[in-house]
Amino acid sequence: MIYDLVIIGAGPAGLYAATCAAMNKIKAVIIESSSEYGGQLTLYREKTIYDMPGFARINANDLANNLFEQYKEYENEVPLHMNTQATGVEEHDDHYVLHTNQGLFITKTILLANGGGMFAPKKLEITEAEAMNNIFYFVKDTSQFKGKDVIVLGGGDSAVDWALTLVDIAKSVTLIHRRHDFRAHQHNVDDARKRLNVMTPFVAKDVIGVESAKALIVENMETKELVSIQTDAILVFYGVSPVKSKMDQWAVDVKDNSILVSPNMQTSRKGIYAVGNSVFYEGKLRMIVTALGEAATAIGAITKFFYPEKTLTYKH
Ligand SMILES: Cc1cc2nc3c(=O)[nH]c(=O)nc-3n(C[C@H](O)[C@H](O)[C@H](O)COP(=O)(O)OP(=O)(O)OC[C@H]3O[C@@H](n4cnc5c(N)ncnc54)[C@H](O)[C@@H]3O)c2cc1C
Repeated sequence: MIYDLVIIGAGPAGLYAATCAAMNKIKAVIIESSSEYGGQLTLYREKTIYDMPGFARINANDLANNLFEQYKEYENEVPLHMNTQATGVEEHDDHYVLHTNQGLFITKTILLANGGGMFAPKKLEITEAEAMNNIFYFVKDTSQFKGKDVIVLGGGDSAVDWALTLVDIAKSVTLIHRRHDFRAHQHNVDDARKRLNVMTPFVAKDVIGVESAKALIVENMETKELVSIQTDAILVFYGVSPVKSKMDQWAVDVKDNSILVSPNMQTSRKGIYAVGNSVFYEGKLRMIVTALGEAATAIGAITKFFYPEKTLTYKH
């Protein structure tokens, strides 16, 4: 399959670009290196944002979910590949071959929406856990948990959503969080409390096993009591932390460590566009609202690139 466009990054800029691309009938795909959409919004989920047009105030987590909900209307037209990290690009006569950790994408244009860099999952801070083959930081295939005793660690939407997803597949699901209060949607938390074993306030302390974890030792944060839980698989959703991207691999012109773009968000390389926190132009502001505006501008330019005659058809 040859795409018209691959969008790299599912932060605010990338998600909105995917929505705009679908509206303009561009044959596109969006890839995200982590297991969560929302980019930097996932770093400050609880923070209130006061400078989002149309909202006197909005929680960062809600804004990420709203952007995703809007994109989701078009997910069949512009699929999202999570856990897919762009690693390099090869230029051919009339297309690019994008290298990722999940294989190659052939595309005529690329939109860099990689923001401040990649986000890597925060790991379980237990040295023995590193070598174990049944501790996961994202889910690729739910069938691998069929009939298993699964522990899910974390208190955000990812942890709660995955625990609820697996409850009908696994033999048992235990959701463990260090606080009584979750950061996830209350409706889902209530559902989880009804349908699966929820343990709070517990924190993972040790893993028992050699190549694979057989039991997890957790500590009650209030009583300091240690409890051992038998398990076949442990899923860790402790959120993500930023890892700087290497811009030089794209061989586009940079200024102040950011990608230099023209007013239509084109980089120095034909067919490669860039938006959001990773770009530089005179007067650039590193804000969500500018990232979203740049996404619309870039998709407008990419639409013109493919259909010079076409009138842009954003829904109003
Ligand atoms: C603490 C904090 C508070 C903030 N508060 C506000 C505020 O109140 N108002 C405001 O307007 N702005 C705020 N910002 C800034 C705002 O979050 C950013 O401007 C915005 O997130 C930029 O969006 P983006 O899509 O360009 O990049 P990002 O949000 O950085 O998203 C980039 C995405 O690309 C992915 N990615 C990176 N490299 C690759 C790769 N090689 N392959 C695949 N995927 C990749 C990343 O995993 C990430 O999901 C705040 C920032 C911080 C850190």
